[in-house]
Amino acid sequence: MQDNLETWRTYEPLAEDELATLRLAKEKLDELLDNPCTNCQYCMKSCPMDIRIAPIMEALNRAGMYGIPNGKNWFGFQTAAGGKASECIQCFQCEAACPQHIEIVGKLQRAAELFE
Ligand code: SF4
Ligand code: SF4
Repeated sequence: MQDNLETWRTYEPLAEDELATLRLAKEKLDELLDNPCTNCQYCMKSCPMDIRIAPIMEALNRAGMYGIPNGKNWFGFQTAAGGKASECIQCFQCEAACPQHIEIVGKLQRAAELFE
């Protein structure tokens, strides 16, 4: 307990320039991350085509963070047995099920262009 209190005794809030750096880093990360998918997979339960939606969302995020080849590798690994982005029939049932309100169909079209 004393040790913990000692740790926080010298606590000082971040200076304005440090906060600005953190804000900039967050903005950059937000740009890189393609979407806020949480991998809950509710969308996949309602998909009549068994599209591998959540892993494909991750492939897009990987492409944003680490480059397209990385995303493409992940996409290929995750859809090797089917459920590719281009197999989507655009019924939009997945978007109705997504708690993050992600525009999944458009993202799948982008994934097909990038990875297939
Ligand atoms: S829009 Fe495409 S991915 Fe979404 S549920 Fe329909 S077939 Fe599946
Ligand atoms: S429902 Fe939305 S947040 Fe959940 S896995 Fe599907 S795309 Fe991601």
